[in-house]
Amino acid sequence: MFSKDRPVEALVVGAGPVGLFTALSLARRGVGVEVVDTGIWPCQHSYALAIHPSALALFEELGLKQQILSRAFPVRTLGLWDRAGSRGQIRLAEGEDCLAVVRQDVLEEMLEKALRELGVKVSWRHEVAKIEQANGGVNVQVNRFERESRGYIVAHTEWVVAESKELEVPFVIGADGHRSGVRRALGAEFPEVGPPLYFAVFEFSADAGLEQETRLVLGEETTDVLWPLPGGACRWSFQLPGYTDEQAEALKDQLLKSGFGYFPTEREKDRGAGGGEGLPVLEESSLNEYIRTRAPWFRAQPTDVTWRTLVRFEKRLTSRFGKGGMWLAGDAAHLTGPAGVQSMNLGLFEGRDLAGRIADILKSNGSQASLEQYNAHWTQVWRELQGLTGGLEAADDCPEWLRDKAGRLLPCLPAHGDALRALAAQVGLRLKG
Ligand SMILES: Cc1cc2nc3c(=O)[nH]c(=O)nc-3n(C[C@H](O)[C@H](O)[C@H](O)COP(=O)(O)OP(=O)(O)OC[C@H]3O[C@@H](n4cnc5c(N)ncnc54)[C@H](O)[C@@H]3O)c2cc1C
Repeated sequence: MFSKDRPVEALVVGAGPVGLFTALSLARRGVGVEVVDTGIWPCQHSYALAIHPSALALFEELGLKQQILSRAFPVRTLGLWDRAGSRGQIRLAEGEDCLAVVRQDVLEEMLEKALRELGVKVSWRHEVAKIEQANGGVNVQVNRFERESRGYIVAHTEWVVAESKELEVPFVIGADGHRSGVRRALGAEFPEVGPPLYFAVFEFSADAGLEQETRLVLGEETTDVLWPLPGGACRWSFQLPGYTDEQAEALKDQLLKSGFGYFPTEREKDRGAGGGEGLPVLEESSLNEYIRTRAPWFRAQPTDVTWRTLVRFEKRLTSRFGKGGMWLAGDAAHLTGPAGVQSMNLGLFEGRDLAGRIADILKSNGSQASLEQYNAHWTQVWRELQGLTGGLEAADDCPEWLRDKAGRLLPCLPAHGDALRALAAQVGLRLKG
């Protein structure tokens, strides 16, 4: 388990986009890094599907920007629509920059390959099973799983722990997603800061003529999104305002409290047909019904529906981004709605920030206090993005039809900080406070 050639200075828990990006940023700074993931293999589906224009600069630093752009569908405008048609447009970037629509699995594959080239191999089928702060570091137990054949008449295999290793590392980065065990070991709270949103999601082929625009369709109660995807495909995400999954609502806090012990994670199920991650599958006919009632101007005929599922998006924010040797990034620290692809993209910024601070501490005698600044900075950014500091409001030049929908746009803008302020200002919106 793990390379014997170099000491482990930072253990990244989770090989999703944020974990891989953080590991790469650490490795490029000469930090001895290992990445473990309970998944049996990388994700096979596109969940978060776009890189923010400002995040492309992060990939440029790693020499990956052109690779991303070569596999991406470039989106240059965010169209604001309603049932009747187009109402306005937000220009997202200038020059070659764009909102780069790239499948999450393509992105992960690219990052994993770049890591391999730096001598870091992702340890799939490895679970961090125990973790606690120690004097000047973190004690971790990592289990490696293997399939074991059982002597049943019908062939049957089970996953068993093949090897268990205890190690002390200076830093652990919890990029282990919404049920983060690292967050739990930290003792951080993960309160809901808004009600969950449900979306019916469909991916299909269609000659939709979307050009380079992602469309937000603002209904009376709903915010739907139409994405152009690479290869002539589209994704429609329709918000379901009246829908509640009683079972998910009843179990949610229990699931978050349960910490470790999820091997193998849902990524195993990704490869099957249907919703993925055990999600419910929707009828294909409901796609036409949503289009007819919410976006009748969408006249392209959907063919080859490759994904149709119902997804629940919670809105949560960690009470701390870390302490001592344990730090969080990505979905482990925050969850929000899907339209602005904010959780993954800000996770990339957090990963890069964390990697810089950790490298500085390990390699240049930097101060541990800099990690407290990491906590303070990202808590403040996320409080703003979650609308906890007041949200978006209409300025004098905001068009009348958008005024009562202003607050809804905050999680839908593919940006944060000043870049978000600039996008909002194009349609007469400003952040309060
Ligand atoms: C069906 C679906 C649709 C989505 N659609 C959108 C969308 O349209 N827009 C959008 O912005 N976002 C969407 N998302 C959310 C998006 O996928 C996440 O924001 C993004 O994946 C977060 O990346 P991450 O690296 O922080 O975490 P993740 O991608 O969740 O990765 C966490 C990793 O940690 C691993 N792990 C967990 N516990 C352990 C442990 N103890 N030991 C080792 N490994 C562990 C897991 O196996 C996993 O690979 C969607 C998610 C789903 C499930």
